[in-house]
Amino acid sequence: MIRFSRRIFTDLAIYMMGFGFVIGVVFPFFMTLLGVPASYTMQLWFFIVCIIAGLIVGAMNILLARSVVGSRLHLIANKMKQIGGYISSKTHEEIVTTCSPQECMVEKDSDDELGECAESYNQLINALYASFQQETMVKSFSQLLSSRLELDDLAASVLPSMLEHTGAEAGALLVEENDELRPAASFRINGVETLKDREFIKRVAQEKKRITIELPENIAVEGALLTFRPASIILEPIVYHDVVLAIMLLAFIREPGEEAQRTIDLISPNLSVAIRNSLSYDQLQRLAANDSLTGLFNRRFGMARLQEEFGRAVRNSAPIGVCIFDLDHFKLVNDTYGHQVGDKVLVFLSKIIRSALREGDIAMRYGGEEFMTILPGASMTDAYQIAERIRRMVEESEFQYGPQRIRLTISGGATSWPDFDASSADALVKRADESLYAAKEAGRNRVTVL
Ligand code: GH3
Ligand code: MG
Ligand code: MG
Repeated sequence: MIRFSRRIFTDLAIYMMGFGFVIGVVFPFFMTLLGVPASYTMQLWFFIVCIIAGLIVGAMNILLARSVVGSRLHLIANKMKQIGGYISSKTHEEIVTTCSPQECMVEKDSDDELGECAESYNQLINALYASFQQETMVKSFSQLLSSRLELDDLAASVLPSMLEHTGAEAGALLVEENDELRPAASFRINGVETLKDREFIKRVAQEKKRITIELPENIAVEGALLTFRPASIILEPIVYHDVVLAIMLLAFIREPGEEAQRTIDLISPNLSVAIRNSLSYDQLQRLAANDSLTGLFNRRFGMARLQEEFGRAVRNSAPIGVCIFDLDHFKLVNDTYGHQVGDKVLVFLSKIIRSALREGDIAMRYGGEEFMTILPGASMTDAYQIAERIRRMVEESEFQYGPQRIRLTISGGATSWPDFDASSADALVKRADESLYAAKEAGRNRVTVL
């Protein structure tokens, strides 16, 4: 087809008008052939009327084509422009939030090239929509992962999000802790504590690969794992450098589509990094809280705990005892046996102190060879008795190092709120310290209460 301009409809108009003109010229001859008298058809005015009629039909055609085809193409072009605008302004969320069938799609109302064009356009939008939806989901999931550092916090926010994005109705997240899988979060699972003993969980941990368990209706489910009958269960190991950090279980009432599998594919690697980070954070927390030699709380963490416990005691009007101990003549131990033996003596003493305390009591390494115990609920008398018991245990024990047997003694200062009316935790510590000093002054190997 020869083109006359860069506008299809202008070319079409030229063709149609030309065709109308030719028809107008041919029509009188045609009429003559059909038997209309030539005296009537072969007149100039008849030719002019036929040509005008031909041109009018041509013009009508082009107007109709413009309004039917042109408006349709115009609609698709406008929609494309709108989507193009969203993409270039990078507001992909706009597509995800506004691309309902009315907003972005074009109705396919013909079975021809235009219908095909509308259908292809709609498919393109659907693919874009799915891809942007996934991108938005991954983005929001990543934000969620980076905003939670503590493992249980992380698990508690990740699980509902996973259920939402995969369409699962129940689930659990088990995390590896001290060589055991501990449920860190669960939803609609019965006996989540026993999950770790289930065969399929052990299998996933071993194989380190996703397992999908299909449960056709005629197959009985072992034990009532869920509060409903699932059609399928997906078990996803969360692996970091070949180490299984966690296992995620997702249960579906209806078969999950490929979409769910793809979502898990996308999220699983991010989740593994986040869990790895929060595990390090937990470990760091533990390192930050404990004295590396004795394993007791270090001074910074222990004092923070004392502030908390003191505040709680005051709020509950319950007593709280504090004792400080100091090894007697410890310098001598170091000088005689060496610093390394001195260290072992400190570990030995920390074990005695720990063993003498109850659940809920706190022991910390307060300084070099000074230890503090925080005793919630202990009155002045209780604090004295506990301190005295520890002193006696040390006196009666013997530290053995090779052939050496070293006898040790400690001095202690004990106090308690509200028997001693301390205005703060620091004032209570100061009082215990003064009591310890008094015990040293009074000859050591004793506990003093001022
Ligand atoms: P006393 O308390 O009975 O007055 O006598 P002391 O010999 O214990 O005196 P002092 O409290 O002044 O000495 C504390 C010693 O504890 C000095 C220091 O070398 C030792 N020490 C502090 N921290 C450590 C440690 O981590 N390991 C070892 N081996 N020794 C330590
Ligand atoms: Mg000292
Ligand atoms: Mg000392």
